[in-house]
Amino acid sequence: PSETRPTGAPRRVGIMGGTFDPIHHGHLVAGSEVAHFFNLDEVLFVPAGQPWQKEEDKVTPAEHRYLMTVIATAENPQFRVSRMEIERAGPTYTIDTLRQMRQYYGADVELFFITGADALGAILSWHNVDELFELAHFVGCNRPGHRLADPGLPEGKVSLVEIPALAISSTECRERVRKGEPIWYLVPDGIVRYINKTGLYLGDE
Ligand code: ATP
Ligand code: MG
Repeated sequence: PSETRPTGAPRRVGIMGGTFDPIHHGHLVAGSEVAHFFNLDEVLFVPAGQPWQKEEDKVTPAEHRYLMTVIATAENPQFRVSRMEIERAGPTYTIDTLRQMRQYYGADVELFFITGADALGAILSWHNVDELFELAHFVGCNRPGHRLADPGLPEGKVSLVEIPALAISSTECRERVRKGEPIWYLVPDGIVRYINKTGLYLGDE
């Protein structure tokens, strides 16, 4: 019962998965929008360890991606960052994360897994889709140019949300850094400075 919970304990939690290589304002606006429209108590950003969709040598070491996520979210009291996926060995699977989150938060907390519409399109190819939908509600964020033609997703388990036009991607941010183009205002100021300080993305092919 709610009376026995510590005050301020979250009841509705958003889980924002991503590679965050680097985190950008598209991710942050998506987290903020979903928190508002789904009345979430907190949004947990979960940098992926080794995303199974992406090749190992193409992804920046997890510690950099984790630190950038912390820097970008530090000022928002509703945003937190989890080390769960980067501390788990092997490739990252959403089902493992959701099972672990469910165990951590307990049965009476509602989980909302927030992901881009592009990633949502791959849900049907995941294993244990039925269990996924039992563990969490899925929120798919549309960004410009990523419309879902026929999602074919189960009724009531998935919501699609329009994120205000932010055609930002991590891929474009990395390319801009490599070419010496500015990423100011595409990512938080602290992320520009962190990338400059560490020299991240300069040597990318
Ligand atoms: P990459 O270009 O390397 O694939 P990305 O910009 O898509 O990176 P991810 O870390 O893969 O970033 O994104 C995590 C999740 O956030 C994904 O499901 C993605 O679809 C979603 N997302 C990314 N950019 C935006 C954006 N501008 N607006 C809304 N959602 C976004
Ligand atoms: Mg992506």
